[in-house]
Amino acid sequence: MTASTRPDSIHARRPVDRDARPIVDIRGLHKTFHQQGPWPWSPRREVLAVQGVEFTVQPGEVVALVGQSGSGKTTVSRIVLGLEEPTRGEVRLEGQPWSGVAESARRGRRVHYQYVPQDAMGALDPQQTAHEHVIETLTVLGGLSSAEARDKAGEMLDRLGLGARLHALPREMSGGEQRRVTLARVLALDPRLVVADEPTSGLDPDRRESVLEALIGNLPPDAGCILVTHDMTEARGWCHRVLAMLAGRVIEEVDLAVAEPVHPYARILFDPWSAPVPRGPLATSGCPFCPDCALAVDGLELRCRADVPSLNPFPDGGPAHRVACHALAPDPQSS
Ligand code: SF4
Repeated sequence: MTASTRPDSIHARRPVDRDARPIVDIRGLHKTFHQQGPWPWSPRREVLAVQGVEFTVQPGEVVALVGQSGSGKTTVSRIVLGLEEPTRGEVRLEGQPWSGVAESARRGRRVHYQYVPQDAMGALDPQQTAHEHVIETLTVLGGLSSAEARDKAGEMLDRLGLGARLHALPREMSGGEQRRVTLARVLALDPRLVVADEPTSGLDPDRRESVLEALIGNLPPDAGCILVTHDMTEARGWCHRVLAMLAGRVIEEVDLAVAEPVHPYARILFDPWSAPVPRGPLATSGCPFCPDCALAVDGLELRCRADVPSLNPFPDGGPAHRVACHALAPDPQSS
């Protein structure tokens, strides 16, 4: 039995509709920030936070964005939700333009695209109970009557294991319970897309599992999900596809049920015992991983220093396996 057909695998639990219109369709995404130095006379410098990112999320699919701090994964997720505008490129949600659209035109659609914040405590009102949080979301955003919202909120909290905690205030809850209240608010709206930004950060392994079970186990069947994480165990256990990011670019896309990462940087991310995660400066031209890469030797090193590798199919039979590396997946047009 392959990993993809195990009854407990994410593929078995959440079938993906590959033929349907994507929930998220991102093309040629770039984002540049301008940063001022510490003094008024300091020059402003450009920070290329996202460079040429492209991917889709299909109905039913959970896609992980993984990478270290500063890799661009949070910026991508904020652009998907319309909290940042791209400098270039396009985001379409359910076939409709989303980036570059006036906020007045997006407002009616926002309820379908929900965000799970990393800081659950900061997202909760200290004066409101678990039940009141979800009721408020359903009346204000979901348009339900108070009676309908009360019933639906109670049902959702019960499904997430908080049936006995309806009247608890945030300070009376554990970290895992606070996360599940933020999830209940999002899931009660029957979203089409959920973007979860490190929803388990700071929790112990058991609580992490229960939070992800609550999130992914209660997503509507045809909804999409983007899970931003730096925990590779989560990506492996709960996601159909993983996009590993470095210096604002996707350097590998892989379905971990059928293939393992091959990019030397992605391999370190997934197996930090194999080598230390590089802490030194990344290259600013060519492949950003070049200063630490053991594959960039002999004649290849010059190319790695000069040319940014594009994301090309990796020939291991995995249908969605692509890697950005001159050594592992040379650009077909250059060979
Ligand atoms: S492109 Fe070159 S430097 Fe970058 S990962 Fe591949 S071999 Fe290493």
